[in-house]
Amino acid sequence: MKIGVAGIAGRMGRLVAEEILGTGAHLEGGTCLPDDVPPAGITRYNDMASLAEAADVVVDFTHALTVHDHAASLAGAGTAWVLGTTGLSADDQRAVDAAARHVAVVQAANFSPGVNLVLAIAERLGASLPSEAYDAEIIEIHHRQKVDAPSGTALEIGRAVARGRGAEFDRVRIDAREGTTGPRPAGGIGFSAVRGGQVVGEHTLLFAAGDEHIELTHRAFDRRSFARGAVRAALWLKGKPPGLYTMHEVLGMDGAR
Ligand code: NAD
Repeated sequence: MKIGVAGIAGRMGRLVAEEILGTGAHLEGGTCLPDDVPPAGITRYNDMASLAEAADVVVDFTHALTVHDHAASLAGAGTAWVLGTTGLSADDQRAVDAAARHVAVVQAANFSPGVNLVLAIAERLGASLPSEAYDAEIIEIHHRQKVDAPSGTALEIGRAVARGRGAEFDRVRIDAREGTTGPRPAGGIGFSAVRGGQVVGEHTLLFAAGDEHIELTHRAFDRRSFARGAVRAALWLKGKPPGLYTMHEVLGMDGAR
């Protein structure tokens, strides 16, 4: 299986390349921007269209601005896609969904097995704790270079709670609070994003009731768990028919959702 890496000069792209080589799979090469310096010894591709032609699957941790181009190139070449880029707009997501009608795609806001377990527990807590008594808040902390907020993982945790509650996520999410906000709406799912330093990623799901708090926290200390999960997803995609798959399916946790 020939695996390509989009954004191979990035923080995630470099680790994904190392993990591919570590598994003994074939690293076809990677794309990077003209000013980027890719890891030594890597075949450099200047655009996704040519990498898509050469590879069987491409692992992509780049920027939301690339999504339309990457979706069209991969669907056109019939190449599978492991997509980890976050901060996608609804229109970007439609491009991913369209590509998944032609090729197999694993998309995850977080490839770490631990976070995927947290998502399953978040859904159960959402289903078990009455939303009028337990206010759900998601607090996330990331490094100063992160360009999107709330993080894709925080949004996934919020979606999991909403699913558990049988609520429509977009109607209950509370993205920011400033000024005279009025009282908290019952059933709302709130987000707070902290940015600073080199924090790899911390997410806390808080259920705050009048007489007790329940907190579920995941702390990532090393991006390598994301890279390892993404390479596992790339290998899992071999021979899979077109469709949009999740890490729950890759990890064999489908029953958890
Ligand atoms: P980064 O800025 O270190 O790396 C992104 C790389 O993509 C950069 O080298 C940039 O030059 C390159 N790039 C941008 N546009 C490109 C293009 N058109 N062609 C080729 N290369 C291009 O960022 P990062 O920390 O590696 O994160 C990348 C993305 O992955 C972000 O959206 C981040 O939120 C997400 N992320 C997801 C997970 C997950 O588990 N799903 C984990 C970590 C990061």
